[in-house]
Amino acid sequence: MNIPSLANEIKALPKVELHCHLELAIRQSTLQEFALARGFQVQESRNFSQAFLIEEPMGELPSVLHKFLNTRDVLDSVECIERVAFEVCEDMYKTSNVRILELRYAPSFLLDKHKHISPDELQEAIHRGIDRAESMYPIAVGLICILQRTKSVEENASWVDFALNHRNRFLALDLADNEVDFDPEPFIPLFQRAKNAGLGITVHAGEPKIPGISKNIRTAIERMGADRIGHGLQAIEDDAIVKLLVDRGIPLELCPTSNWLTGACLSISEHPFNHLYEKGVYTTINTDDPGIMCTDLSNEFVLLAAHQNITIDQLKQCTKWAFEASFIDDKQKNSVWSEIA
Ligand SMILES: [Zn+2]
Repeated sequence: MNIPSLANEIKALPKVELHCHLELAIRQSTLQEFALARGFQVQESRNFSQAFLIEEPMGELPSVLHKFLNTRDVLDSVECIERVAFEVCEDMYKTSNVRILELRYAPSFLLDKHKHISPDELQEAIHRGIDRAESMYPIAVGLICILQRTKSVEENASWVDFALNHRNRFLALDLADNEVDFDPEPFIPLFQRAKNAGLGITVHAGEPKIPGISKNIRTAIERMGADRIGHGLQAIEDDAIVKLLVDRGIPLELCPTSNWLTGACLSISEHPFNHLYEKGVYTTINTDDPGIMCTDLSNEFVLLAAHQNITIDQLKQCTKWAFEASFIDDKQKNSVWSEIA
């Protein structure tokens, strides 16, 4: 297989990104600039990498958690956040020809450290960045509001209110964070409420490699109204879960590099992507945290072609499924897509 020529062909394909955490998609040069300005000793790339980047499979979770927190902590003004939102969109378009982009963030996580920024100010800053990118590039961008499993039901209820109050900009609700120690069940009523109010639903479920974890996929679909599943690669452990995904036509937002780095699979070649595809699951390809995990969407496509023999036609099929599964409205999607597809 000629990887360089394949990479060029893949880069040119118009793409859809459904699963990307806004703050962890930050451009690395910007992150380094922000960190230096705030006193981090990260002039040398080795130090920068050690403080912020995840380049090898994670060992103990706490040893890498501080990298997420460091990144969050340097985003301490609305100006920083606006710039990050703009640059993430610009990078998606320029590195990977992404035309449909869904970004997600947890207001509770971003604001925990930055009490001087109000939720509305945060939201408006993100919109300014996105709006500028949409005016410059043929890209349609939407936002997903994340609830953190680690927060109380009461706090998360207020973030559902926030999402519904910004219904014109939030497309969907998501549940993220530590799936091992925090079950989804307490949050079921919040998701039912959001679903009834018309928000799309996607849930991080079935991600870590722990026996039995795929039950969270069933809970997300049958009790939380999930339209899509974040990751969900451990569905492969249970044929009944795979059948549920296929029967209901629920797409998986798979993120190969992230799944490898978090230990959800042992290598890209051992990722269950190809098996799930063959079983008829709507597999979509995404980046999760491209900034700190040193990847981009084109690279994720190339990795699947190189390590799993996924063909260009299959990659295009995954993009078609992602296009159809995107929560962005059809008119907006078609406006950036119809002339190229
Ligand atoms: Zn995620």
